[in-house]
Amino acid sequence: MSENKVALITGATRGIGKEIALELAENGFDIAVNCRSLQDASEELKKEIEANGVRCEFVEADVANFEQCENMVKDTIEKFGKIDVLVNNAGITRDGLIMRMKKEDFESVIDINLVGTFNVTRNVIPYMIKQKSGRIISLASVVGVAGNAGQTNYAASKAGIIGFTKSLAKEVASRNILVNAVAPGFIDTDMTKVLSDSVKEGIHAQIPLKRMGLPREVAKVVKFLASEDSSYVTGQVINIDGGMVM
Ligand code: NAP
Repeated sequence: MSENKVALITGATRGIGKEIALELAENGFDIAVNCRSLQDASEELKKEIEANGVRCEFVEADVANFEQCENMVKDTIEKFGKIDVLVNNAGITRDGLIMRMKKEDFESVIDINLVGTFNVTRNVIPYMIKQKSGRIISLASVVGVAGNAGQTNYAASKAGIIGFTKSLAKEVASRNILVNAVAPGFIDTDMTKVLSDSVKEGIHAQIPLKRMGLPREVAKVVKFLASEDSSYVTGQVINIDGGMVM
């Protein structure tokens, strides 16, 4: 069994998930990097994580597939012996106004973002209950709190994660499992690179700090929620949005 704390992070090959993996590795966690396919496992990322003197293994699953999540969690337990921290980070957008949104676009966002969060958490929880400790941190979004035109599917998935987080926090608090969410605003990743310059300018105007966030700025708050420093924090949603939603 790993002597270090072990963190399983979904969708951790790029963007915010990758920065969470690196931030936790820098703070002494062994890291299970989830990717959809082992073909996406990058030797470079493994080396970068292991440079901190911790272990890194890639574990495969499409989070929308319950059986694959079950196998991924078993695989992680076989490799590390335990999971101390689960970060539900994998997520997608399929934006569009409701009049033009296809049913598949609504369903795929719910399946990956919300059902995916259930699929991984459901398989991790029995191990955390047995070890009488654990941290579950899920990536919501400020649009799940405040709404956003063109994102009914995405906002619904993220609002769902907030309800899921609060309910699960109440369910498992007695087992010493803390469950929280972070709600980023606009963070500079592939997900937001698709936005046009004029849309980005409009967004900056709504942010008191007048800039997008960096993935590492999200990772630092996730690190806090994974650490002993947050031992009396559960059922919370922490906005990381430069003051956009207050
Ligand atoms: P990103 O750069 O698009 O990365 C998304 C990650 O999720 C990728 O590693 C992707 O893997 C993975 N993923 C997608 N579908 C998956 C599936 N079915 N199974 C397993 N992995 C899957 O996105 P990001 O900006 O880093 O976002 C990370 C999280 O933060 C998401 O939950 C997102 O909703 C949330 N968030 C982001 C922002 C923002 O402004 N960027 C704001 C609020 C919340 P592949 O490489 O295989 O596609």
